[in-house]
Amino acid sequence: MIYLDYQATTPVAPEVQAAMEPWIAEKFANPHSPSRWGNEAEAAIEVARKHVERAIGLKGGSLAFTGSATEAINWALKGTVEKAPAGRNRVITLATEHAAVLDTCAWLAGRGIDLTVLPVKPDGILDLELLERELDDRVLLVAVMLVNNEIGVLQPVAEIARMAHEVGALMVCDAVQGLGRLTIPAGPDLVAVSAHKIHGPKAIGALWMRAGAEPDPFIHGGGQERGLRSGTLSPQLCMGFGAAAKLATERCERDYDHVHKLWSAANRALGPGWIVNGSTSHRYLGNLNLRREGVDAARLLADLRDIAFSLGSACASGSGRPSHVLRALGLDYRAARSSIRIGFGRYTSQNELVEACSRIASAARAQEHLVA
Ligand code: PLP
Repeated sequence: MIYLDYQATTPVAPEVQAAMEPWIAEKFANPHSPSRWGNEAEAAIEVARKHVERAIGLKGGSLAFTGSATEAINWALKGTVEKAPAGRNRVITLATEHAAVLDTCAWLAGRGIDLTVLPVKPDGILDLELLERELDDRVLLVAVMLVNNEIGVLQPVAEIARMAHEVGALMVCDAVQGLGRLTIPAGPDLVAVSAHKIHGPKAIGALWMRAGAEPDPFIHGGGQERGLRSGTLSPQLCMGFGAAAKLATERCERDYDHVHKLWSAANRALGPGWIVNGSTSHRYLGNLNLRREGVDAARLLADLRDIAFSLGSACASGSGRPSHVLRALGLDYRAARSSIRIGFGRYTSQNELVEACSRIASAARAQEHLVA
């Protein structure tokens, strides 16, 4: 199996596994209990928290662990609406956001929030003039992601946050695909991240909150996480996230150089006839989303079962519906159905990537011959 689905999830780093192991069976204490063992777990969690905060790199805020980035996004959006000042009833987001944002916004719209979903330009990037025209003093928050999970395109997050702040609105940023790979720009008030996209364990995420912008609690109970997010923390998951974040911070440049080389090698191996979906200049290079005229991408996937690549996004792949992100770029149904996403990173070797891309290219050419 050649694994090329790094946007869906990433392989767990050996350092992460080692950091988690003692906390699975041997050190099982509840980190919120006052025993010596509980205190030891609590102290180790605080070290892990610092590593995640450092990887996010923003100043003037704090971090709460959550059960996923999906939970962090739900909390950021619903918890901010919950404490909205009178007269601030508008939420603005983009058509290319992850379902965690779009579906939560749709849910809020069903409960009276005035929702605006902005389109993107054909390169996948927001037109800031469009945003400028929408912003007014009724806007409560603007939710825009840093790196798109399907096409890798980067949004001008710092600029968007500045514009939101000018009208007194908050900015929520889904930085799941950016954490540890790129610098998260200063500006957002609430930032959602996930461990499993940076070689950490699944089922743990976090919400970074600028001081004063903390959303109202969403999960109620034992008052953990300073009363903001109840529920017993999992030491093993927190240690795994901490170790993954530390590693990502230490290796950020090295990983990026590696990914840059892989991007060039993949494009060379695929050869001519492919068109990259979305901007080629404002993107994270570990995400190669492209299409080829006439190709049936679902058949490519079925023909190459030992290569794990995808049809744009894990969710879209499962549903059989063409991706909402590709449609938002203006791609018609056929173009969207001939698109694939090849995702690579730290543990991808150039040889395996070149082999996979060469096989993808010949399987695509074989389809053309069948049609001809
Ligand atoms: N946002 C983006 C951009 C993602 O890629 C994902 C994961 O697919 C999520 C949010 C949700 O993250 P989690 O799996 O931690 O809920």
